[in-house]
Amino acid sequence: MTSTSFWQATAGCPSAPAPRVNDVDCLIVGGGIAGASAAYALAQAKPDWKLAVVDRRRIAGGATGRNAGFLLAGTADHYAVAVARYGRETARAVFATTVASHHHIRTFLAHRPDVECDYIPCGSLTLAGTQEEAEVLAHSAELLREDGFDVDFVPHDPLRRGFCAAIRNRHDAGVHPVKLVHALLAASGAAIVENWPVATLESTPAGVVVQGERGQLRARRVLLTPNGEAANLHAYFADKVFPKRGQIFVTAPYPSRLLSEVVYANDGYEYFRQLPDGRFLFGGGRRAFAATETGTDETPTADVQNFLERFRDRHFPELIDLPITHRWAGTMGFTPDGLPLLGTLPGQPEIAFSIACHGHGMGFSLEVGRLAAELVITGKPPALFDVARLERNPASRPAAHV
Ligand SMILES: Cc1cc2nc3c(=O)[nH]c(=O)nc-3n(C[C@H](O)[C@H](O)[C@H](O)COP(=O)(O)OP(=O)(O)OC[C@H]3O[C@@H](n4cnc5c(N)ncnc54)[C@H](O)[C@@H]3O)c2cc1C
Repeated sequence: MTSTSFWQATAGCPSAPAPRVNDVDCLIVGGGIAGASAAYALAQAKPDWKLAVVDRRRIAGGATGRNAGFLLAGTADHYAVAVARYGRETARAVFATTVASHHHIRTFLAHRPDVECDYIPCGSLTLAGTQEEAEVLAHSAELLREDGFDVDFVPHDPLRRGFCAAIRNRHDAGVHPVKLVHALLAASGAAIVENWPVATLESTPAGVVVQGERGQLRARRVLLTPNGEAANLHAYFADKVFPKRGQIFVTAPYPSRLLSEVVYANDGYEYFRQLPDGRFLFGGGRRAFAATETGTDETPTADVQNFLERFRDRHFPELIDLPITHRWAGTMGFTPDGLPLLGTLPGQPEIAFSIACHGHGMGFSLEVGRLAAELVITGKPPALFDVARLERNPASRPAAHV
């Protein structure tokens, strides 16, 4: 089962007739932000390559079309938690990846003033729901500043809505994720093939034969970006990528602006923003429903949606009577250690993958896309996200949240 998000309903990008695609230099399986970012980076690095992107449904039909559109630096863990989990150097490198990604997005948009993707450089607030979390935020801000990242700790709730403290990151932003993906794909020049589910991949002397129920495609190289559905596409991912769900609702426009920033709260388990037209978006609820918020079903559930409505009522009582116009669910790919996976399939160096940016694929987007393009070209995964780490340390702690 599925649902339609506000972004998918408002992208205004009609389906184009499928072009004839065969014998491309690189075929990207998955038309979300990971596939679009890699296509864009490949087009920059290899302008003479023929590229194609194939998706089993419409472009941005997966998590990319179903997220909150936050461009946040960092990952789900507060920085102090990430430092304790990965070590200072790795935590810093991961954070720097997201900062670089956002820089690439700003550059991309600066060179294309015609692109409309509702990019708003509004900054973010990360709010602590408890005093204990406030202490973690204070420590995180200190570590971030020591590591050269520009954030501020606010020792009270800047919104005055029942939280304890905040980190303000002036460099974060909000975006319309589906419009951004279409803009990246258009800039890449890749041929787009929608509604084309890939079933099998076979390496042959003449290239990779990609088989689907709608026919066969052939490519010199393939990049897989199927995110939470990775294990359905290839058994290699069965013990590496786990589908977890997230849910959101969006209201009708509120007549005045109550909120500028994109806001992440309660260890990142809840998040909200006010969209350019005044609508409110609330998402999260996974911590309370961790046992059921798994799998690839994209149907929103009453339990989680009611939880989100109670969260809204507690912190924004003036919105209680505002109609809810869109409700949806989406699937994220999680890995055992909470970091994305890049690599090639065993014995098939011509089939690369870039998967599982957890709840931060928009934040990771263009820099991870650049790394994925490098992987396709050189066959070498970036050390930071190399899948080989799971073989070295299979008992990595399971990832907990978005
Ligand atoms: C509710 C929710 C809120 C979120 N909020 C944010 C946020 O605000 N900011 C942020 O940075 N991140 C957020 N995320 C996470 C973010 O959406 C993901 O990390 C990101 O979209 C992943 O992009 P992707 O391209 O890897 O995957 P997807 O967008 O899921 O794309 C994978 C694509 O592969 C296709 N596919 C799969 N199997 C096949 C096959 N066999 N053949 C052909 N095609 C196939 C799918 O149809 C899909 O389109 C959120 C996620 C959710 C669910």
